Amino acid sequence: MQLLDGKITSDQIKEELKSKVDAIKSNGGKIPHLAAVLVGDSGAAVTYVNAKVKACELVGFKSTLVKLPETISEADLLAKVAELNADKDIDGYIVQLPLPKHIDEQKVTEAISPDKDVDGFHPTSLGKMVLNLPTYLPATPYGIMQLLERNGIETAGRHCVVMGRSHIVGSPMSILMARNTNPGNATVTMVHSRTKNLKELTLQADILIVAIGKPEFVTADMVKEGAVVVDVGIHRIDDASKKSGFRLLGDVKFDEVAPKTSYISPVPGGVGPMTIASLLMNTLQAAALK
Ligand code: NAP
Repeated sequence: MQLLDGKITSDQIKEELKSKVDAIKSNGGKIPHLAAVLVGDSGAAVTYVNAKVKACELVGFKSTLVKLPETISEADLLAKVAELNADKDIDGYIVQLPLPKHIDEQKVTEAISPDKDVDGFHPTSLGKMVLNLPTYLPATPYGIMQLLERNGIETAGRHCVVMGRSHIVGSPMSILMARNTNPGNATVTMVHSRTKNLKELTLQADILIVAIGKPEFVTADMVKEGAVVVDVGIHRIDDASKKSGFRLLGDVKFDEVAPKTSYISPVPGGVGPMTIASLLMNTLQAAALK
């Protein structure tokens, strides 16, 4: 078994980005600028946004963190989005999800200018992805494609089972793996909570990508010997023995599944860092398109 180490792979990407930013700087070009909108201050979202801002600094991007109160109205958030769309200095921005219940996430997502949609969630970005046209790919699936490619995982002609059909992970993931690209060209099965013969299908997977949001759901008896397993899940589990008070688990029961696999991504240190690296790649792309 080998680890699909997202920390090492994302560090390589960040090094490459840093060299590109250095070159832009020495040529007197405009430094890429990413903004992140954070509504409220709930634990996980704050951690994710801070990690994104820190990653920007590391590669030499400019970053702006827009903090808004949990009680902000939908209209005021949409006004902020319009402001960011019009801001000529900002190349791309994200609105960290989830948003408070009183705000319609889809409405906000659709208000983001597709030119600045570096999370790749806008219907225009997703539509272009389906058509294999140049666009911003959704950060997590894009990160997984990079993780597979940069670790030399062959995908063409292999059976990939994607668990989960969310708009941000499972659905775009299944489309990217099926596209006529490299990586891609896989035979894809997508499963979800209404799938009846789940284990029968997961056992056929040469590549199993798990994004269901259920801690340690995938057990060894669900995985074929020699499969490649990518675990997208992140769960904070209370753990008094840790200084932080919690530990992180994935959707896969790592200890028992890992020995059966050829490659497996750990949690933490797998898909999470790759998602951030993809966001940075999309931001550089946004800056280059200006
Ligand atoms: P989500 O929106 O809750 O979607 C979960 C999907 O899994 C749904 O399609 C659901 O089916 C399916 N599902 C749930 N239980 C299932 C079961 N027992 N068998 C088969 N399918 C099942 O979650 P998400 O946003 O895609 O995120 C999934 C996980 O990835 C979460 O743990 C999240 O925290 C993590 N995540 C990590 C990153 C990262 O950067 N590492 C990024 C995004 C998300 P239905 O559609 O039928 O309900």
